[in-house]
Amino acid sequence: MSLPEHARVVIIGGGIVGCSALYHLAQKGWSDCLLLEKNELTAGSTWHAAGNVPTFSNSWSLMNMQRYSVDLYQRLGAEVDYPINYHVTGSIRLAHTQERMAEFERVVAMGRTQGMDLKIMSPTEMVEIYPLLETHDLLGGLFDPGDGDIDPAQITQALAKGARDKGAKIERFCPVTDVRSDGAGWIVETTKGEVACDYVVNAAGYYAREVGNMFGRDVPMMVMSHQYILFDEVDEIAAFSKSTGHHLPLLRDVDSSYYLRQEKNGLNLGPYERGCKAHWTTPDDPMPEDFSFQLFPDDLERLEWYLEDAMARVPVLATAGLSKVINGPIPYTPDGNPLIGPMPGVANAFEACVFTFGICQAGGAGKVLAEWIIDGETEWDMWSCDPRRFTDFTDPEYCVAKGMEIYGHEYDMHFPHHEWPAGRDKKLSPVHGRLVEMGAQMGAYNGWERANWFAGPGDDTSEQATLTWKRQGPWTKRIEQECLAVRDAAGILDLPGFSRFRVQGEGAAEWLRGFCTGGIPKIGRFGLIYVSDSRGRILTEMSVMRLDEDFFFLITAATAQWHDFELIKSRLPEDARFEVSDVTDQFMTQIFSGPKTRDILSEISDADLTQPWLSHQSAKINGTWVQLVRVSFAGELGWEIHSQVGDTVKIYDDIMAAGEKHGLIPIGMYALNSLRIEKGYRSWKGDLSSDYSMLEGGLDRFVKLDKPQDFIGKTAISIEKQKGVSKRFVTLIVEAGEEDAPYMSTLWHDGEIVGETTSGDWGYRVGKSIALGMVRVDLAQPGTIIEVEIYGQKYKATVQPDQPLWDPDNERMRA
Ligand SMILES: Cc1cc2nc3c(=O)[nH]c(=O)nc-3n(C[C@H](O)[C@H](O)[C@H](O)COP(=O)(O)OP(=O)(O)OC[C@H]3O[C@@H](n4cnc5c(N)ncnc54)[C@H](O)[C@@H]3O)c2cc1C
Repeated sequence: MSLPEHARVVIIGGGIVGCSALYHLAQKGWSDCLLLEKNELTAGSTWHAAGNVPTFSNSWSLMNMQRYSVDLYQRLGAEVDYPINYHVTGSIRLAHTQERMAEFERVVAMGRTQGMDLKIMSPTEMVEIYPLLETHDLLGGLFDPGDGDIDPAQITQALAKGARDKGAKIERFCPVTDVRSDGAGWIVETTKGEVACDYVVNAAGYYAREVGNMFGRDVPMMVMSHQYILFDEVDEIAAFSKSTGHHLPLLRDVDSSYYLRQEKNGLNLGPYERGCKAHWTTPDDPMPEDFSFQLFPDDLERLEWYLEDAMARVPVLATAGLSKVINGPIPYTPDGNPLIGPMPGVANAFEACVFTFGICQAGGAGKVLAEWIIDGETEWDMWSCDPRRFTDFTDPEYCVAKGMEIYGHEYDMHFPHHEWPAGRDKKLSPVHGRLVEMGAQMGAYNGWERANWFAGPGDDTSEQATLTWKRQGPWTKRIEQECLAVRDAAGILDLPGFSRFRVQGEGAAEWLRGFCTGGIPKIGRFGLIYVSDSRGRILTEMSVMRLDEDFFFLITAATAQWHDFELIKSRLPEDARFEVSDVTDQFMTQIFSGPKTRDILSEISDADLTQPWLSHQSAKINGTWVQLVRVSFAGELGWEIHSQVGDTVKIYDDIMAAGEKHGLIPIGMYALNSLRIEKGYRSWKGDLSSDYSMLEGGLDRFVKLDKPQDFIGKTAISIEKQKGVSKRFVTLIVEAGEEDAPYMSTLWHDGEIVGETTSGDWGYRVGKSIALGMVRVDLAQPGTIIEVEIYGQKYKATVQPDQPLWDPDNERMRA
């Protein structure tokens, strides 16, 4: 086939993900699309993958994708008339500890909400379905009935056939050598000629960084070597399959870190080993130009411990001879999730690459990618995979450190007070050293180190102490002290990396009115705005500081930096006469809250401290310029203190010195989270996500349907307003036990699932466990009693009035 002159979309890479993207574009009616593969389809990671297809995930969005994949893979063969070997065997995850059982309970509940029938098993139940299993040291397990294994090449070919049947085209042995923009779209250069297209997708697997470079994009990734071992036939397994007519379930010993799966009548052992190995990361180990259908040499020494452990778990393994080792390249992003969505900083280009579990995620990923390209938005909130979640700090050294850490801890639990140690200190506040000297236990936020809590003498600050789901830990009494200082005196939180965009010039105000769903603040005032998508769902929240008629600073979460800046740029008029710039790196922020903050500032500042709540002013602190914003995410009298980066140390020291006699102490992010949840303030991508509409999110007062500007989402919100919402954001007081409700805990009423939590924490001022969440609208009335399932236990929860739990009339903030 000669290349067409033009295609609507060109996909670079013919692994399972590229083929799924092509299939889903064609399914949605975009058949004028072309996939270019430098070798044969599946030549990258796909051909040698083990083909396991779990639905299990701790992440709501990944679970959505994997659930969708399983459903698609079960019907695809018949749909496109391409037979696929797919064994739906179910799987058992083994639990050695109570913490692991708690994790399983949580995932079972999440799965139930998504319509899946995951279930907890006792050791006896496990042996009933897996008679060869040794269970004396196990507490139980999780059974995932949808898990199985599929032939990766066949599923890829079936997706390709489905796409071709709809008219899409695939050109094999056609390496893409470069791309160039032709203004509106792209010219893709290949060894077989050029193709013009409207959109390009980087689906180049472990070659994604090389393809990204063609666009001037540095893809945050690295490559690990990953092995599995195939064993000869085992008589007991053959007998089991013969007598039952099916395969053994797949085993995942997640605490020991490997899976063990029946392959024909033998076994396949796949460890994620601690002593793992990165590839192609140093100048003496350069990435080959082409690695199609190749493997790394076997490296069995690394796997010895896992082999022995697996033999103790399934003793018949010891009788089997080793038949083959597969050691192949597998790409990792710094958080282990793939990149699916708009290519940061590059128009009309998308990413669907760096998949670590690409076989089980490709089905869902293709759907998500096709939605991104065709609709500009996705059905599910996909922030966990959005390429814009990583910003400029993800240099190669960082990617290698994080990739190694994630691989070696692939199945580890993610505890709420645990911070992963690799790749730290990428961005430090000028007062970082001072915070650490005062006992700060740091956490990473978009690369920036911030204090989570301040340890006192004798506190256990070991990593081991954080490996718990429980609220209680060395941090508890310190968070309480920090919260109570904010309630009774004052607290200061150094908050580097607050994303900040300057919008200035003629027409800026009019544009902003059309950009957001509601009103914008007057000059000298500060307010919140929301931006919705075309379906009226929540895209983002920004604070707006208005300095002049057409001069604003938009301030958003640290992690939202690239997402929000791209969102702003994507909605600018072509003839804009105002300018928008990202000035995040120029400013620092201190959150300064508590009833004594006015007294402290009055001693060191020339500001007019009688100015009201939600005002802002330019002022001096001991002669140094600051912008004081009268606002408090903590819900007390307070100011955000914005300053030049170079002045941070002086300002921080001056405030600390003046505040000492007033009881001022430094506070951390954990205290702030507790304080904000008592006020019902939402956090971005927890409580505020595109899984919910503005009206479901209870953000009605930030929507102005009667304003003249025609904002995106207006029609959808109007329709939803007339129809009424089916679920509604609520604050709950939970009669919780030792744990507060984590994200996506299931809400129950009368034995039915009626919603989910979006965040939960202990409120130290109100002395109660609090959850925010979404509940069926008829249950959103204050006083309604429902139940929250927290790690398998149901706890009574009461719906609260639609107002803050702490200081409902905001009198303390207005004081
Ligand atoms: C040993 C091993 C076992 C695994 N087991 C599992 C498993 O059980 N379950 C699971 O879900 N995942 C598993 N994986 C991971 C899985 O293999 C990958 O996540 C998945 O194959 C990625 O698919 P992809 O399409 O993104 O990339 P790839 O399959 O790598 O495809 C990318 C394609 O892009 C092509 N390409 C690159 N550059 C260019 C260019 N310039 N021009 C044109 N084409 C180009 C390549 O030739 C390649 O075919 C395993 C991985 C390994 C290494």
